[in-house]
Amino acid sequence: MNPRVPGIRSLHSPGPTRVPDAVMHAMQRPMMDLMDPRVGALIRACEDGMRWLLRARDAHVLFYAANGHGMWECVTANLAAPGRALLIAGGGHFSDSWAEQTEVLAQATGTEVLRTPHTEGHPFDAAAIEQALHADKAHRIAAVLVVHTDTSSGITSDLAAVRRALDAAKHPALFVVDLVASLAAEPFEMDALGVDVAMGASQKGLMCPPGLGVVAVNARALAFAEQHAGPRFYWDWVRRVSDMQYKKFCGTPPLAHLAGLEAALQLIAQESLAGVLARHRRLADAVHAALACWGTAGALKPLCKVAAARSSAVTAIEVAGGLDPEALRTVARERFQVAIAGGLGPLHGRVFRIGHLGDMSEATILGALAGVEAAMTVQGVPFGAGGVAAAARSLVEATA
Ligand SMILES: *Cc1c(COP(=O)(O)O)cnc(C)c1O
Repeated sequence: MNPRVPGIRSLHSPGPTRVPDAVMHAMQRPMMDLMDPRVGALIRACEDGMRWLLRARDAHVLFYAANGHGMWECVTANLAAPGRALLIAGGGHFSDSWAEQTEVLAQATGTEVLRTPHTEGHPFDAAAIEQALHADKAHRIAAVLVVHTDTSSGITSDLAAVRRALDAAKHPALFVVDLVASLAAEPFEMDALGVDVAMGASQKGLMCPPGLGVVAVNARALAFAEQHAGPRFYWDWVRRVSDMQYKKFCGTPPLAHLAGLEAALQLIAQESLAGVLARHRRLADAVHAALACWGTAGALKPLCKVAAARSSAVTAIEVAGGLDPEALRTVARERFQVAIAGGLGPLHGRVFRIGHLGDMSEATILGALAGVEAAMTVQGVPFGAGGVAAAARSLVEATA
């Protein structure tokens, strides 16, 4: 057994995130038989709540017992088609992983995977997406797949630019967005952006434990899947669009996770979506104010080089050569009870990340920043003094 931690251990990984008590309690509800009308009501509440959150009026909302990688596979299984192509916008570690995973499946179905180039520290290149669409005169590209917030670099890309690229090229490709890290943290409007498929997972801004995947599919995307039957069953959107609960989930629904999601959506509605998004922006700005102060000693800087693209969900901090962010994380977690994240893929050993999404307050953020400062002091990381005070000032100004 782990020894008890007095107070709280503050969780600042950008997923899984802190789960509010209301969500945990909801998940402890007794199980129900599948014909219980309360099951239908629970599912409808989650579907309607997700449509509300996604600003999607008519999209089909489908839930899977899966993580984000599962939802990537779900998208590919429904959109891969022989002789066609999927264009993945290069945007960092997550789009790279998505592309690698998609290539495995695409190979088996004769679908080509195209990628646009990417510069570290920058959002995806919308001009390169438009170029690829213009060059595709035969309209082989079935879908453009983009990650909204790249969690490894703390960068949020501009989805409206992808819409403009599709329109400018007059290309009929479907617009598919990975919202795993941005759902309920960054503004998103599925219908207004003309997004055809939006996918997410439970353990980040949705404040639920990992294990529930969600996808919203509009009529155009569903029609594409209908016309292109592939080797799929569990993931199949066409099979799942049904009024029958058992078909909707290809078996037994993950009832505890759905109960948790229902409670989480109620929390978001109580705070108001605008309030949730404004809080995320406010806390992210406070972290950046601390980082600007820390950086004056020359050893730390934001990985994101474009101020307007700084994510509301997570901040990636690049450390100078010779410093070990993994050792810093261990000290922060084990000695100061602040769990932060490390660098992924090519960023491993070069960055640490402070997650500020989900169930967070001014107090949790200031505590995390103070814990990181303490850990940096222990580790001899040079940093400009006064980061926590700068964050507090940023919060004072934001709420003034
Ligand atoms: C976390 C994340 C994923 C992967 O989700 P898992 O649940 O870990 O499989 C995919 N995309 C983005 C943008 C993420 O942040």
